[in-house]
Amino acid sequence: MLIRIKDLELQRLEFNETFQPGAIDLGSEYTQVSPLQATGRAELIEENRGHKNILDDIRIVGKLDTEVEVACARCLEPVRQPLHRDFELLYRPQGADKTKEEAAVSKGETEISYYEGDGLLLEDVLREQVLLEAPYRALCQENCKGLCPTCGSNLNSGPCPCKEVQPDPRWNALGNLRDKLKSD
Ligand SMILES: [Zn+2]
Ligand SMILES: [Zn+2]
Repeated sequence: MLIRIKDLELQRLEFNETFQPGAIDLGSEYTQVSPLQATGRAELIEENRGHKNILDDIRIVGKLDTEVEVACARCLEPVRQPLHRDFELLYRPQGADKTKEEAAVSKGETEISYYEGDGLLLEDVLREQVLLEAPYRALCQENCKGLCPTCGSNLNSGPCPCKEVQPDPRWNALGNLRDKLKSD
């Protein structure tokens, strides 16, 4: 869904959109597993910088809900993660700010980004918000046992054969000592 400056000049735009998994490219780390619901509005904000320099900013306020799957950081099993995010964003025309510092100090809590050409895609806005909200690292359970470093089996589903094959070397040392004491 394209949000165009020309349309916003006439009236603000209310949106209530549903995106099925696959409609928004989230990259390889996250898989969207339920429809993404996004509601909100977009409006044009004329930012007067003096000397007849007026910027056409796009302000987007809304919220999104969806669910993503991400691999458990220890055992790699998929972990389902519900996501909810409220956002308030301001998009300035590309090149409006000479430096990033300038942008960072100008609008308080609002996140500032830039759009190119005559508008921006709602899908691009949502992708960025999903990726900001998605967990950097997830575990399938708090005490996930992970994978065996030797054979790679998932230790949550029981001990792997490796442990029985390799006795702890400390017991070997005790055994040797016992044998030695006996022979003395
Ligand atoms: Zn796990
Ligand atoms: Zn093993």
